[in-house]
Amino acid sequence: MHNTKGKLFVISGCSGVGKGTLLDMLLKRHPQLKLSVSATTRNPRPGEKEGVNYFFTGKEEFLNGVKNGEFLEWAEFNGNYYGTKKDRVEKMLSLGENLILEIETQGALQIKQKLPDAVLVFILPPSLEELENRLRRRNTEDEKSIQGRLHEVRREIECSKNYDYRIVNDNLERAFKELENIICG
Ligand code: 5GP
Repeated sequence: MHNTKGKLFVISGCSGVGKGTLLDMLLKRHPQLKLSVSATTRNPRPGEKEGVNYFFTGKEEFLNGVKNGEFLEWAEFNGNYYGTKKDRVEKMLSLGENLILEIETQGALQIKQKLPDAVLVFILPPSLEELENRLRRRNTEDEKSIQGRLHEVRREIECSKNYDYRIVNDNLERAFKELENIICG
């Protein structure tokens, strides 16, 4: 991965924090930015397309890829595997493309170890209390499941201390400007 020309950005954030909206805005306003497509073993959701949202693969195929060193990073999340293929990232960066990976924290820290020039950005909720209230207001989950989610959120927020930038999404336009400044300078 030497002599690469493009820049690599990693964006992570707790679920429900507005990360998807911010990324959509960024890609719309800066179509020259490229979003990496990951491989996953989870089933496609309605409307998701092969090669657009993810490359959907079986567990055995995924783990063979891991064994053969095909992944730049990978992680298990919520009972499924997710990973970024090395060859695709290398190719895009060598072509001078600036590339965004939207991945969770374990994978992000693997990227930072392998490619210290990668820029890691974490999107934070305005406060843990607010996220907790939002989860409770939805009223769709029992206490055990809410506690499980909050535990994950706290773990991810703890991990985000190793990121280069942390953006609090308390106001969409303001948070977007911050993200745009980091990525587009
Ligand atoms: P979802 O199943 O909701 O699409 O994604 C679940 C989580 O997996 C999200 O936090 C997403 O950022 C993360 N994710 C998606 N692709 C990758 C990947 O290639 N590697 C890692 N480490 N995480 C990923």
